[in-house]
Amino acid sequence: MADPSNATTTTQEAVRRPPRVHDGRIKRLMELNFPVAAGNPEKRECRWCGGLYSVGTGNTTLRGHLNNKHAGWDGSEGDPNALHLGLGLASSSSTPQTGHQPSKRHRSPSSSSQHSRTHKKQFTGTMADLAHLSSTALSDLTAKSLQHFTAKELCQLSELSADEYQARLKVIQNKKGFIIDMDGVIYHGNVLLPGVKDFIHWLKKEDKKFLFLTNNSAPTPRELSFKLARLGLSVTEDHFYTSAIATAKFLQSQKPNGGTVYVVGEPGLIYALYEVGFSMNETNPDYVVIGEGSSQTFDKISKAVNLVYKGAKLIGTNPDVNGPTEGGIAPATGAFCAAVELASGRKAFYLGKPTSLMLRYAATILGTSKDETCIIGDRMDTDILSGVYAEIDPVLVMSGVSRPEDVRSQAYRPWVVCNGVGEVVPREA
Ligand SMILES: [Mg+2]
Repeated sequence: MADPSNATTTTQEAVRRPPRVHDGRIKRLMELNFPVAAGNPEKRECRWCGGLYSVGTGNTTLRGHLNNKHAGWDGSEGDPNALHLGLGLASSSSTPQTGHQPSKRHRSPSSSSQHSRTHKKQFTGTMADLAHLSSTALSDLTAKSLQHFTAKELCQLSELSADEYQARLKVIQNKKGFIIDMDGVIYHGNVLLPGVKDFIHWLKKEDKKFLFLTNNSAPTPRELSFKLARLGLSVTEDHFYTSAIATAKFLQSQKPNGGTVYVVGEPGLIYALYEVGFSMNETNPDYVVIGEGSSQTFDKISKAVNLVYKGAKLIGTNPDVNGPTEGGIAPATGAFCAAVELASGRKAFYLGKPTSLMLRYAATILGTSKDETCIIGDRMDTDILSGVYAEIDPVLVMSGVSRPEDVRSQAYRPWVVCNGVGEVVPREA
């Protein structure tokens, strides 16, 4: 994401020094989302306003539509949040059909000659436009890379007949409370998954109670709310529940008058513990709490080992031993706790999925009984297992890490298996 400070960059500066805003990604998404269909004109619906534009001469028609129909995408001098983006979108046709040319006030002498040589456009929009553009179109990119299972295959994975499958899906649709995992269900990294917007819209329209649940103890609910906002979803922070909050609630239940902790983790965990009356102590804490984060060091783990060895109780916010990164996997809370357990000879107590405690806390917040609640997740070994432990019907979505062999190899199984959360929404909704 571009540095927000660039939002005040003048037009000429932007032309000389385009902000670093995913040039390659935007170009790729335009290729994927709005492909050239030469000789086969058709109407497409604009993702931003629902208006129709022609496909047949490449991306130029879309750009023409955007520039003509959307305030802020062009000539946005009056908009203080406007950001001029040098996207480098070379036109596939030398003359744009709907004829947008960068206005003269957007040109510099050097950029003018560049435009005439390469037909590149200056793309003008707000930061919100950019975030929406990226998330919306890249969700289609993700959709192309997701494996799609047929209705028959989903029935087989669920070990149900077609009628039984529909009956079970109906049961889920009639639930009052929804506990929803995030990564692999709502998004992959910074990419919104297909069907999520419809699902969230349906939850709100039907006045369902819902809570996003994550084993990640690092972010605060506010940060998670901001993340979804960047992906184009408006969800208030009271709809998020992290393993840090579950850990804090558990420790509060153990020491209602507060206590002391040594934390190896991120601000989201420290903040949650402060909120329930715990203070930090590096000398003789009641608990050593280990959570997610990339700031763990040998010194911190060594201190944790010694404090536990001297009598502090060891708590892990979640048992995950690793997590996905761009470069592969990285050690997670469970791995660091294991190091402390081995070195100190003491066992940790874990919160987070697949323990049922976190789900029970979440259901309490929703105010729904276990029969009125379901959990939707993408992992058999955490989301689905926690549902089994808590006796809350688990829905597996195949948009995340679990593969068919993961489903078939376990003794427990989900209540029903879907491709993604969009399939939970009734067809007529
Ligand atoms: Mg997940």
